[in-house]
Amino acid sequence: MYWSNYHSHCTFCDGRSTMEEFVVCAISKGIKKYGFSSHAPLPFSTKWNMEERNFPHYESEFYRLKEKYNDQIELYFGLEVDYIHNCSNVKNDFFRDKSFDYLIGSLHYLDKLPDGGFWCIDGNFEEFNKGLHLLYGGDIQFATRRFFELTSEMIKIGGFDIVGHFDKISFNACHCPEFDMTSRWYNQLVGDTLQLVKDNGLIIELNTKSLLDKGITYPHQQFYSLIKELEIPVVVNSDCHHLPNVIIGFDQAFKTLQDIGFKTMHQLCYGKWKAVEFNELGLID
Ligand SMILES: [Zn+2]
Ligand SMILES: [Zn+2]
Repeated sequence: MYWSNYHSHCTFCDGRSTMEEFVVCAISKGIKKYGFSSHAPLPFSTKWNMEERNFPHYESEFYRLKEKYNDQIELYFGLEVDYIHNCSNVKNDFFRDKSFDYLIGSLHYLDKLPDGGFWCIDGNFEEFNKGLHLLYGGDIQFATRRFFELTSEMIKIGGFDIVGHFDKISFNACHCPEFDMTSRWYNQLVGDTLQLVKDNGLIIELNTKSLLDKGITYPHQQFYSLIKELEIPVVVNSDCHHLPNVIIGFDQAFKTLQDIGFKTMHQLCYGKWKAVEFNELGLID
């Protein structure tokens, strides 16, 4: 039995330990397949994205570790790429001459604020709420629809493997009184977007980052049955930034998936994504 994790950060972006510390930690936790997915460089600077000038170091350090730990763990080279309308996606020039084992497509920013910066939906609620009022008059339904509209754009453009934290807007939206995850409009919106994930042959990650402290994954557990029904390939990822979170919530997430009836999870095997069987103790060799 083994674990895998394809969504991880290290000191090349906003992770709190070095690449090598994460590799050593992953081995100690029983991980057999581990991917690095630092936040890809953006045309503007942020607190968490990799600086473009650091990319060659990211790449060389990765291949040094891949060779060094070759007999203990399979390491995979990736990036978490922001989708920002008319600004950032995997088709940008930066990616043209580079090769990756896989890429994650994620949304952290929506539209441009009056000050010229993009509205971040993944920070603290105060910032979230400020942008919500400046851009959409405080209408959380409108903002949520915009989030999934942009997610749909990203999916249609394609060029990546895994949809990262699919419903991340709920992280802050759930603090708005008018946001109700059980509402018809929200379920319709999520359902339509999941159908698009399926139609475009993408993998959806079940992101366990908030599972222990908030009790939820991204996408939320309430959508697992629909994901199963649509037969969308899944992979469990921790989106870790800290060493103790490398396999956070994995036992719980694997158990929930098994209880719902999932039998396989997608894994990189010799450069190709394949369905691999699992149970609540992990992936089966
Ligand atoms: Zn992210
Ligand atoms: Zn991430």
